[in-house]
Amino acid sequence: MSLAARADRLAEVVAGEGLDQLIVGDLVRPGDSSPDASASARWLTGFTGTSALAIVGPRARMFITDFRYTERAEREVDGAFERVTASSRLLPELASHLEGRVGFDDAATSVASLGKLEEKLADGIELVATTGLVERLRRQKDEGEQEAIAEAARLADEVYESVLAPGLAGRSERQVARAAEARIRELGGEPSFPAIVAAGSNGALPHAEPSEREIASGELVVWDMGAKLDGYCSDCTRTFAVGEPGGEARDVYELVRRAQAAGLDAVRAGVGGAEADEVARALIRDAGHGERFGHGLGHGVGLEIHESPRLGPRSEDELLAGDVVSVEPGVYVGGSFGVRIEDLVVVTEDACRNLSTLPKELRLVD
Ligand code: ZN
Ligand code: ZN
Repeated sequence: MSLAARADRLAEVVAGEGLDQLIVGDLVRPGDSSPDASASARWLTGFTGTSALAIVGPRARMFITDFRYTERAEREVDGAFERVTASSRLLPELASHLEGRVGFDDAATSVASLGKLEEKLADGIELVATTGLVERLRRQKDEGEQEAIAEAARLADEVYESVLAPGLAGRSERQVARAAEARIRELGGEPSFPAIVAAGSNGALPHAEPSEREIASGELVVWDMGAKLDGYCSDCTRTFAVGEPGGEARDVYELVRRAQAAGLDAVRAGVGGAEADEVARALIRDAGHGERFGHGLGHGVGLEIHESPRLGPRSEDELLAGDVVSVEPGVYVGGSFGVRIEDLVVVTEDACRNLSTLPKELRLVD
């Protein structure tokens, strides 16, 4: 879908909400935004810098940046948008272009920015809190976006293979994580989040930070990483056995593998995020490990590593064709080991397309 078409769709949503305009972009640190905070403005306008606000409505297509980015905006921002360079700061510039009932995103706005904006508004302009109007459109990825994510996933799969090649025993978790991140960069990407490499009992901490702990033979290693290419993220987890794992570790691994396969089978358009989660969770619960699967089954992935929709017990989302989601059950045996297996898939009308290519039978490495 072209960027102009995205703006048209958003303008319809804005009108449907009874608004004249919607502010898109980061109103927490305007002018100094992280990639995640800039994701909606990037999706809408094509701009990849850290200073961007947009105004969209039935009669508005405006992009605002500051003088550092005037040239980049000329190059990147879609021609459907009028490009404006703020004369000083972004907020006063933004305020001077607002008209009528204006929506702002409550999750992307700080109380401080809202106060500053209100101070500068002309009479008759009303600010209205909205939630996730752009995120809802960003959920369903078009073909170009799906391909970008698939490419990032392929890159990460290649990195697993090359970093695994010399074996894991005797290397520290941090060495492996650093080697993986360096290889991602060599291949032209960047890490989509700091890699998690967690051996033995550290693997029982779902979001462990890699430590100087040396990986030993007989341990399971949970390794969660992703690449980012052209702004789009991938996300994958595999659990490897270093040498021969114990019987309990093998049993739990097979359980998680079956739960993950069942979760993948359940994922298709029209299925609820809670429903898909329950399919995988029921298997883990029936095996007596219900309390040891303490997170949701998965999450949307796109310009941000965690975005809509959510797959989990409390999710109210229904899966839509074009959603890109992770499917990642885990079992964490405190003090002992953990297992998580995560694939990234595109939701289709009657199934899902798996973007992860690494095998899932338990792999024994040196
Ligand atoms: Zn992950
Ligand atoms: Zn994930």
